[in-house]
Amino acid sequence: MHCLICQEPTSYFLSKTYTEQPFAAHMEDIGTVDYFKCSNCGFTFSKTHASLSPERWAKLNLDVHAFMEDPAAEKKGNQPPYLEQAAMIKILIEHGLINGTNMLDYAAGHGTLSRVLEKYFQLHLPIFDEYVTDGDVKRYILKENLGLYNTVINSAMFEHVLTREDLDKVNQLVTDDGALILHTVICENVPADPEWFYFRPPVHTAFHTNKSMSILMQQWGYASSLYCPTAKCWILLKKDTDSIAASVAQINLELQKEYLMYTKGFVDYWKGF
Ligand SMILES: [Zn+2]
Repeated sequence: MHCLICQEPTSYFLSKTYTEQPFAAHMEDIGTVDYFKCSNCGFTFSKTHASLSPERWAKLNLDVHAFMEDPAAEKKGNQPPYLEQAAMIKILIEHGLINGTNMLDYAAGHGTLSRVLEKYFQLHLPIFDEYVTDGDVKRYILKENLGLYNTVINSAMFEHVLTREDLDKVNQLVTDDGALILHTVICENVPADPEWFYFRPPVHTAFHTNKSMSILMQQWGYASSLYCPTAKCWILLKKDTDSIAASVAQINLELQKEYLMYTKGFVDYWKGF
């Protein structure tokens, strides 16, 4: 099997057997999961999940999400920092770093970010989710009505993909001069430890590295990127002009902190692993 990102060969990396309930029950008939890693870019993925039938994959997602979204359940999950993301989007728009007139939250779940943006920042963020349709129908874009957007936000989806197409579908919605905002975990090296926190939910199937993301953004035609530690988001920009660095410097001065980091290519912020 070749790497979804760079097409180089992959090899066996590690296995995980889910013993923690309720995940062990969800995974009982699937059994031990085998992860493979790319020899070139370090991108790591579950070969076991990739071989599930679409029906079995859908059922696993339903089971796990029903547990994670149950208010009574112990979370230990990683809910995105919605308020910080909303504030970041407002700041990026104010400084012309992204265009806020035509945005989409792709794989938005129940639309929490959209509601926070509307209520506290008076910004309209339409949402799309392939699986969630029971939320606020006024905000949802139907699949057949998806178009092109200046700014696409994608939170907590890159770690759930099974195919390259799942990733390309998101990028294809971004205009030629647009931005893709990503919230996921991207590290230097995926740890060879089945107990690593990101391996915990059995619906996490893909693990991105600084190198794999830098390759992916080049393939997709993004020239530069920003990272916002408080919102835990990367902003991939198709353009790279001198004014980006100037705007970032102005924002950081205004907020009296290193609120945004900017570089040509990918901001490899997380070096820890
Ligand atoms: Zn690779």
